[in-house]
Amino acid sequence: MGEKSLKMIDFESLEKQNAALKALQGWGAGKSYHIVTYGCQMNTHDSEILAGLLEKAGLMAEEDIKKADLVLFNTCCVRENAELKVFGNVGALKPLKRKRPELIVAVCGCMMQQKGTAEELKRKFPFVDLIFGTHNVHEFPSMLLECLSEQRGILEVWDSDGWVLEGMPARRENGAAAWVTVMYGCNNFCSYCIVPYVRGRERSRTMDAVLAEAAELAAGGVKEITLLGQNVNSYGKDLPDGPSFARLLQRVSEVPGIERVRFMTSHPKDLTEELMDAIAGAPHIANQLHLPVQSGSNAVLRAMNRVYTREAYLELIDRMRQRVPDIDITTDLMVGFPGETEADFCETLDLAERVRFASAFTFVYSKRPGTRAASAENQVPEDVKNDRIRRLVDLQNRITYEENQKLLGTSQKVLVERGSKRGENFYMGRSEGGRTVNLQGTPDILGRIVTVKIVRAGKNSLTGKIEKETWT
Ligand code: SF4
Repeated sequence: MGEKSLKMIDFESLEKQNAALKALQGWGAGKSYHIVTYGCQMNTHDSEILAGLLEKAGLMAEEDIKKADLVLFNTCCVRENAELKVFGNVGALKPLKRKRPELIVAVCGCMMQQKGTAEELKRKFPFVDLIFGTHNVHEFPSMLLECLSEQRGILEVWDSDGWVLEGMPARRENGAAAWVTVMYGCNNFCSYCIVPYVRGRERSRTMDAVLAEAAELAAGGVKEITLLGQNVNSYGKDLPDGPSFARLLQRVSEVPGIERVRFMTSHPKDLTEELMDAIAGAPHIANQLHLPVQSGSNAVLRAMNRVYTREAYLELIDRMRQRVPDIDITTDLMVGFPGETEADFCETLDLAERVRFASAFTFVYSKRPGTRAASAENQVPEDVKNDRIRRLVDLQNRITYEENQKLLGTSQKVLVERGSKRGENFYMGRSEGGRTVNLQGTPDILGRIVTVKIVRAGKNSLTGKIEKETWT
């Protein structure tokens, strides 16, 4: 997509939407909303934007779905399970809607962008008031207003994806750490993935827009930013001056007040030397790299259209670790891709053992209609998939535990993100490498970076004792 076809839309300039938000305020005052979010961090951040819009319309967040005046499902279609859950959970609201007909039920997100799904949802659950997709989120206020004033259901899903939206309000849950989307869409067409079909082609925000958002977040007390994109390290390729992702990362890490910058999700083919140098050299870029490999078998990688080999991936890991020996590397691993043999799967186990990922998201392949892999005839039987995922999870759990154990007695800088369910004076934060650290302290450590000594290391988290605080 070139300069001419990329359109920036500033939400503040959308008169119809801003007028709708104003008009909704009378209705919204004293009302509450509940958002159910499925899927990845990008969807979670989209929900923060939807919450921001609802709060501008006067509504307040409500934890109990049964008490909310508006329930919004922000859906994901990357895996079949998430889809089935959406249908189940929307259906479960039927009795509540019957009891309280004024309740507004809305459904949006990636799943609605799939051909025919929005119509199917409307057919199965006619009580749903509002359905929209990922490309018309900014029209949420006017659609909601129309739905309320005309007392009718609205179904509006756009195909088009040729713009980048700026200036949307967001209600961020975590005061110390924030997500910032830097690009939308994906051009890669991995053969199992529905994302390029529902999120469209790659569109990058300008560096100025990202930096302005980072500065605004820092002014509000945010210390850590995670740059988000479906294929984040191909950032900038569609912009006229073609700024590299490494440059963007570096510039964001230099914003006064920002102590840590992370990013996800990156593709191995776009992990450049410049990016590795930036991670190694810039003090505020976290020593962490999430680099999805998916499979350790070249045959499977080829069939997945991942455009790298196992050897190339391992070489990238070596080159990264030569620069930053203690970097935390995490990944995504998939089992049961069509045609995956036992030997292919053992190559995945072997790769996991060699790289020793700090942690991994592990998945069972599920057919996504419309993707190339869905029509493959050599699908792997369910019992084989289940056996493989169990073996992979066992292996990764052991590796994660062993890698956590290596941190015993070390000092780690932890950004304290929230109170813990364990009780008063218990907090939870993240190390620079992204590992969960539990610690005890007083309420003033919330939102601060503290240095802790690791005194316990389990499979899922570490426990730290505060050594000293580092004010920033
Ligand atoms: S890189 Fe591949 S897996 Fe990731 S979003 Fe794009 S198509 Fe999907």
